[in-house]
Amino acid sequence: MNINRIGLKLGAAIIVLMIVILASAGFAVDRLFTNFYDAQMRDNAQGIADHFTTMAESGDSSVQSMIRNFAEFSNVKVYWLSDDGKVLTLSGTKLADPSFVRARDTKRLLSGYPVEYMSGNTSGRRFYVVGRPIRTDSSARPAIYIVSSMTEIDNSLGRLRNLLMLSGLGAFLLALGMILIMSKLLSRPLLQMQQMTEKMANGNWDTRLRVGSRDEIGMLGHSINDLAASLQRYRDTRQAFFSNISHELRTPVTYLQGYAKVLTDGLVESDKEKKQYLSIIYQESLRLEHLINDLFTLSKMEEGQIKLKPEPLDLREIIRTAVQKVKLRAEKKHLSLQMDLHDRVPFVRGDRQRMEQVLLNLLENAIRYTEKGSILVRLSGQKEAAVLSVSDTGVGIPKDELPYIFERFYRVEKSRARKFGGTGLGLSIVKKYVEMQGGTVQVDSEPGSGTTFRLILPYEEKQGKGRIKS
Ligand code: ADP
Repeated sequence: MNINRIGLKLGAAIIVLMIVILASAGFAVDRLFTNFYDAQMRDNAQGIADHFTTMAESGDSSVQSMIRNFAEFSNVKVYWLSDDGKVLTLSGTKLADPSFVRARDTKRLLSGYPVEYMSGNTSGRRFYVVGRPIRTDSSARPAIYIVSSMTEIDNSLGRLRNLLMLSGLGAFLLALGMILIMSKLLSRPLLQMQQMTEKMANGNWDTRLRVGSRDEIGMLGHSINDLAASLQRYRDTRQAFFSNISHELRTPVTYLQGYAKVLTDGLVESDKEKKQYLSIIYQESLRLEHLINDLFTLSKMEEGQIKLKPEPLDLREIIRTAVQKVKLRAEKKHLSLQMDLHDRVPFVRGDRQRMEQVLLNLLENAIRYTEKGSILVRLSGQKEAAVLSVSDTGVGIPKDELPYIFERFYRVEKSRARKFGGTGLGLSIVKKYVEMQGGTVQVDSEPGSGTTFRLILPYEEKQGKGRIKS
């Protein structure tokens, strides 16, 4: 048996505690009864002694036989003490070895003082001895001894002690049984948890604990199940993530290899064709660079390595800068890029560079997925937050795909997105950055007519410095 089991440790502590409690309770009960019986005995012996002394002091001639009868009736022994210190029976014969007599008490008695004490003989029997001086001139005996045997009381006390021991033993055995059951009940779920966490350490995250109780152990079981579930989710998303990365990297590399080979093998017929291939190689290398940059940003975000530099931000200024940067691209596609910025919108608190990147991602998407029409950036103010929206008149996103577009590598239509040159990471970066700055992202879209992304960014004074997550 493993002595390190928590149930056993707990059980041992309870047993020690029980032994201490039972022993002290038993001792207290024993003392209580012993004192009670002894007091009774003492009172009884004193009463009889007072009675006999009065009888002896009366000087009556029949006192001898009266005392003998009374002594027999009261179950006590009565002796005289002669003035030379000898102990005599009632009829006057000298007692050879009166074991109950103590020399110093005899002296006190002969000096006229009463004595009382507990005496015992070699066989362990106890006696209560009361000595009383007899104050009468005519009396030949100066004192009387009343010796009361404690054997009956001691027998009763013995029986009581046996009873106490027996009930103590019963209580102890009962407690022992209870402790064994409790320790099993306590340690079984803990053992199951230990086995489960061992399995989890070996990478098996599919099993779950069956939690029956609602106490602390039950709560721990639920937490372990939750941990296993999130590890499982983590593993699944990580696997999907890696297969996505390899796929995303492989495709442009295949293009690069293919077109580079065509060029090096001299299979190109015209300069125009050569230019076309070189342009594809350039586009694909740009896509690779874009992908690597996005991946780098995401991985830094996941590790919590990105530190924001929060400051009061004038969103209008940031919008103008971002719009300026993508203007050329919009013009190339003949899209009109417009702004509608309310001038009374208070500052928000955030990181200037990240906020600009968020806006650029949204604007680039809008341009990428819009073939004709316009893109509108709007800034307005609500009661507690600024609302920044980017709307386009592009292809839109089907309703059932909307919940997933913020996931890493998610694309509405793989082939379409590749044609447009996206990485599938832009929106997940947008969402992360906005949330890190205490804001939220919303999206509305109608396939065929356009999409609107809306950022809700709390004002600086409402947000407070502490709420910026960095
Ligand atoms: P990507 O780099 O592929 O654009 P994102 O994470 O930015 O990746 O976007 C995820 C997907 O959401 C895109 O592949 C695209 O299908 C869809 N999407 C994003 N923005 C728009 C938009 N303005 N209009 C239509 N579809 C969009």
